[in-house]
Amino acid sequence: MKTVRVRNSEQILQVNKVFCLGRNYLEHAREMKAEIPEAPVVFMKPATALLNDGEDIMRPPISKLLHFEAELVVAIGKTGNRVSPIKAKDFIFGYGIGLDMTLRDVQDEAKRKGLPWTTAKGFDTSGPISEIVPMSQITNRQELSFECRVNSVPRQRGSIKNMIFSPEYIVSFLSFIFTLEEGDLIFTGTPEGVGEVGEGDTIEAELLGYTKITHKVKVA
Ligand code: MG
Repeated sequence: MKTVRVRNSEQILQVNKVFCLGRNYLEHAREMKAEIPEAPVVFMKPATALLNDGEDIMRPPISKLLHFEAELVVAIGKTGNRVSPIKAKDFIFGYGIGLDMTLRDVQDEAKRKGLPWTTAKGFDTSGPISEIVPMSQITNRQELSFECRVNSVPRQRGSIKNMIFSPEYIVSFLSFIFTLEEGDLIFTGTPEGVGEVGEGDTIEAELLGYTKITHKVKVA
């Protein structure tokens, strides 16, 4: 089972389920030429996809096109289901920054054929994740924002304010389908600016004011 650290704490979260949202920012939906969703687009990564700060991202041999997608990540703090949107914030333990690494060529083929995205999104090392910042340490929930740099060049900037579906809405939505458990993670979707990375590139993703991760890319 994979674990994530909690910022300024000895606490460790055991991760069981990893949910991800597609298309949660208008500009990214446009750049992917995708429709604006009426309900969250949900997929999952296995917990074995997670990668801690500093470890290498490996592009597997089935792909020639690896994309980065920086995303705000929600960590669930307690078990629950059928949680109302009003109550959802009680289930959010904190936030981190993650990368939804994507084999874009594999995903494009899956989309064309109407097949699942599991290999494109769930391969080993596809889920770099930072330590989790607990709500008790977050002073600007309404303004949370993040930045992604590749080889020190800023490429993506995202804010919780620009999400189509808020973290609380997403938690409530998922909880009517899946039992949420302590340590579950939700990658909340990426803003515009996604792009290719390859051998030797360095990706930094930063939850501004709190924490960041740095990963080198290797081609297997
Ligand atoms: Mg994504």
